[in-house]
Amino acid sequence: RPLDQPVVGAVTEEVVGFEALIRWIRPGKPPIPTDAFIALAEECGLIDELGRWTLEEACTQMADWRRRGVPVPRVSVNLSAINFEQQDLPAFIGNVLGKCGLSPDELMVEVTESVMLAQKPEVLANIDAIHRMGVHLSIDDFGTGYSSLSHLHRLPVSELKLDMSFVHDLEHSESARALTTSILRIGESLSLKVVAEGVENAAQRAVLASLDCDLLQGYYVSRPLSPHSLERWISLQPPPAA
Ligand code: C2E
Ligand code: CA
Ligand code: CA
Repeated sequence: RPLDQPVVGAVTEEVVGFEALIRWIRPGKPPIPTDAFIALAEECGLIDELGRWTLEEACTQMADWRRRGVPVPRVSVNLSAINFEQQDLPAFIGNVLGKCGLSPDELMVEVTESVMLAQKPEVLANIDAIHRMGVHLSIDDFGTGYSSLSHLHRLPVSELKLDMSFVHDLEHSESARALTTSILRIGESLSLKVVAEGVENAAQRAVLASLDCDLLQGYYVSRPLSPHSLERWISLQPPPAA
């Protein structure tokens, strides 16, 4: 199973979902860094299968939590450009949701800016089809690519993930604060939720909350956890304020 990292409200601390993050664990040896084996899987043609595997595992886990009443509103899954080039991606997602008895609203798919803005017809057709199914779309690592704002407002996305490089520099860098503010205002004006990634301490959280950032993810909230540990973590959260 992939690990799960919670996403919470910046002010309310309410759990809004989790991101499924894949791991390659080798008994008795250190794990292989995820970025490294994702790049490898892309090179050797395994990335489509890997993305589908993560999506299916994450949805299966979500269905299990549903059945047992564990309150997790939504799961986010990372897909790569190659996943989006496969014509049968929407059908595959539909099948998994059907098999797991989940509503499309319970799934979010994360893609990087470059995938969204590539303007490849097959990719755009898939983005559209997935959106029409009712699955949410999120732009990952937002701010690191060449965001074409004129394209952004035409894409059916519901969330931007502010790249962690901005978050890391928030406390010390005037320009990181200025760029973060701009990205938050872009989100606001397009009615998109913004998730700040890689939040590691209370000072970063405070700056983000003061800038009206909606959602947080990072070690300050929780490290990525096994499904069992995430369940425990959820049970220890204070109940949402009335
Ligand atoms: P990402 O989608 O940007 O995921 C966030 C990464 O930040 C994760 O690294 C997470 O463990 C890490 N992280 C979370 N909070 C903090 C923090 O407070 N500080 C710091 N320094 N790091 C934090 P991870 O799990 O190593 O994943 C790396 C990348 O690999 C992901 O970046 C994503 O692009 C990719 N990836 C992971 N799982 C999948 C998958 O199933 N399919 C595909 N295609 N890509 C995946
Ligand atoms: Ca991601
Ligand atoms: Ca990211």
